[in-house]
Amino acid sequence: MSNMLTRRQAILAGLGSVTTLGLAACGGSSDAGSDAAAGTVYTIATDTVFAPFEFTDESGTYIGVDIDLLAAVAADQGFEYELNPVGFDAALQNVQSGQADGVIAGMSITDERKEIFDFSAPYYDSTVCAAALASSDIASLDDLNGKKVAVKNGTQSSLWADSLKEQYGFETVTFDDSATMYQDVTAGNTACCFEDTPVMSYAISTGNVDFKLIADCGADSEFATPYGFAVNKGDNADLLAAFDAGLANIKANGTYDEIVAKYVQSVE
Ligand code: GLN
Repeated sequence: MSNMLTRRQAILAGLGSVTTLGLAACGGSSDAGSDAAAGTVYTIATDTVFAPFEFTDESGTYIGVDIDLLAAVAADQGFEYELNPVGFDAALQNVQSGQADGVIAGMSITDERKEIFDFSAPYYDSTVCAAALASSDIASLDDLNGKKVAVKNGTQSSLWADSLKEQYGFETVTFDDSATMYQDVTAGNTACCFEDTPVMSYAISTGNVDFKLIADCGADSEFATPYGFAVNKGDNADLLAAFDAGLANIKANGTYDEIVAKYVQSVE
């Protein structure tokens, strides 16, 4: 299934995304997972920009919690992969259509998605939130009446916005990626955006955006869902078993905590 391009070829082809081959070392695994996955090259789809889970450094190399987790799991389990950062909604579609074997993209484990995907064990807890420009007079959901708000296509936070729009009297405008959505709020076109809380908090704390949080669904909400790695339902059982086994190993040996601490200030 792999459609290998070197980074240079990808750039020359104008794909606008970087193709990475993760090289797996033979790790001394305590949990062997699926031997069938070892040595296989999988295609893994991810989001384009969703810091601190996936984003690029100054040289255009993909980094982030998801990227490092995948690399550590692959090394532990002895499989290889090609990373395809195609955007969140596209990543889910690529897995469903068989263009990708798996997806790691800060993807929320939901009951609806369990109908079409098989998920790994959860690896990161999340809630969803709304954020407005720090300088704006929008202080809570009550201030959104008659306003337009920005949401990202196919996400849990967009579903949260949908569930609130009648009560608070706002309209949603949909974007394909988080960066464009933030730009729209910064430009003043939309009154706020809806996003995953760890991602919005990271963008605010790094100064990437000059936003303030105005609402959060809270940990008890049906929209507070942890992230998981996913494959198409019924497909790639070996890859899923290897991911779960590798995740358990890197949690046990401290690698998971190191990865999270590298990107997120306080490890929850
Ligand atoms: N966690 C959210 C979801 O799964 C958003 C993921 C993303 O935008 N990459 O819907």
